[in-house]
Amino acid sequence: MCAVIAGDRLRDPALLPIARKIEAGERLSGSDAATLYRSPDLLGVGYLADAVNIAKNGRVVTFASNQHINPTNVCVLRKTCVFCGYARLPKEEGAYRYTMEQVMAEAERARDGMTREFHIVGGLDMQAGLEYYTTMFRMLKRELPHVHIKALTAVEIAHLARIEKMTWRDVLIALREAGLDTMPGGGAETFSAAVREQIADKKLGGADYIGVHRAAHELGIRSNCTMLYGHVETIEDRVAHLTMLRDLQDETGGFLAFIPLAYHPDDNELGKKLGLQGRTTTGFDDLRNLAVGRLFLDNFQHVKTHWIMVTPFLSQTALAFGVNDLEGTVVREKIYHAVGAQTPQGLSLDAILKLIRGAQRIPAERDSFYQIIRRFDEVAARPEAA
Ligand code: SF4
Repeated sequence: MCAVIAGDRLRDPALLPIARKIEAGERLSGSDAATLYRSPDLLGVGYLADAVNIAKNGRVVTFASNQHINPTNVCVLRKTCVFCGYARLPKEEGAYRYTMEQVMAEAERARDGMTREFHIVGGLDMQAGLEYYTTMFRMLKRELPHVHIKALTAVEIAHLARIEKMTWRDVLIALREAGLDTMPGGGAETFSAAVREQIADKKLGGADYIGVHRAAHELGIRSNCTMLYGHVETIEDRVAHLTMLRDLQDETGGFLAFIPLAYHPDDNELGKKLGLQGRTTTGFDDLRNLAVGRLFLDNFQHVKTHWIMVTPFLSQTALAFGVNDLEGTVVREKIYHAVGAQTPQGLSLDAILKLIRGAQRIPAERDSFYQIIRRFDEVAARPEAA
């Protein structure tokens, strides 16, 4: 179904040819994406993204009930990912690596709760090899077989392949046999080599991030993808990044959702170096990244807002900017809180329903493949009810 656009809603004439392309179902170019990023008419960009989203997903906004488990913060890249406040060297204060008993103790919360997904990511820990994760996944599946395992970023998969001297594909096969269901999208940062040189010198490069996801998709393992914005990247870097994601999606169709991630400048080297501490990304930029993602990534069904990074209130606003999925009832998130995120560590089901209904959308709980499990059809009578 094509989006229907009312041209008089657009105050920036540069958006008009883009609106016509969207109406005609034509793909946007990189230069269109740059125009969307630069347009002073944020509401116009949001209006276009909302029209496209409504045509694709209707007024339903989904969320998943998930629980984060971050099993180790020990990371060999501690000194070189200068935007990260989570990682520690093995003997550094605050370093931890969970035993299997500790993982299970955290996971136990899922037994009686509504958790349907474990989101498991951590550092590149030399002492946490393939067996550490295959043992973990087998235990989780044995004890809590109803909970989906979304685990290990492309960076972690490549790290396991390196230390085990295996291919990405063989690591993925072993993890899948142990219980891995899907992969999260973290670790993408911004693909540009010049950006990576400044923020994550030694981290897996953009082409390899894409390569690991391609290997996963070829095995039938679906994944998400991300882009970290709001640090040293340019608009052209963002567009190039989105283009690489769109190209892989054309090739494999394996991405479930795109999730732009806002850079948090507190408690990390990069924030100090750039003098950004205490200054998070602006609401304008947060909304624009979501809207441009929706418009440019025409082969993605789902665009997700991560309230942990941008606050629940901005995520609620984002539901009118092309977003159809809200990060769920997360339990005990550690990574973004380590760099200064002031958001709660979890939102209750009631709070999520209230946010979505307050945006005049219909909440629906989904599974990890974005299939709807149950809808909550009443919509708030008044927007201010949120
Ligand atoms: S961003 Fe990831 S790879 Fe880099 S230091 Fe932090 S935990 Fe390690």
